[in-house]
Amino acid sequence: MKSFKKELWFKTRERRAFINITPQVQQVLKESGIQEGLLLCNAMHITASVFINDDEAGLHHDLEVWLEKLAPEKPHSQYRHNGFEDNADAHLKRSVMGREVVVAVTGGSLDFGTWEQIFYGEFDGKRDKRVLVKIIGE
Ligand code: ZN
Repeated sequence: MKSFKKELWFKTRERRAFINITPQVQQVLKESGIQEGLLLCNAMHITASVFINDDEAGLHHDLEVWLEKLAPEKPHSQYRHNGFEDNADAHLKRSVMGREVVVAVTGGSLDFGTWEQIFYGEFDGKRDKRVLVKIIGE
């Protein structure tokens, strides 16, 4: 069995952003040379997510509005976590959107359902953050 690991780095201009990272993940898979196996992709930070959904601007807007209803950023004082930090909402948003995705690899390609794309969800950005891609198989 082969294994391959690579980190991707992101720094968003805004506090919150959704980035379609499917091309980068596919590039890592290509580099690995693995044809059959499993690919794990996860955020390495507790205020960011990796998730799979549709690359559709309306949906991304809906997600942002929905997450802001669930865990509004402001006022910062509403959260106990916000003593020295102001990112309690980002921790909560990450919990809802998840840490990672696992995608099957068949014939050197990712097995996506219709419209499925991999996204990096940033909830406390403007700094360098990492995403891990680990692939096992042969
Ligand atoms: Zn925090």
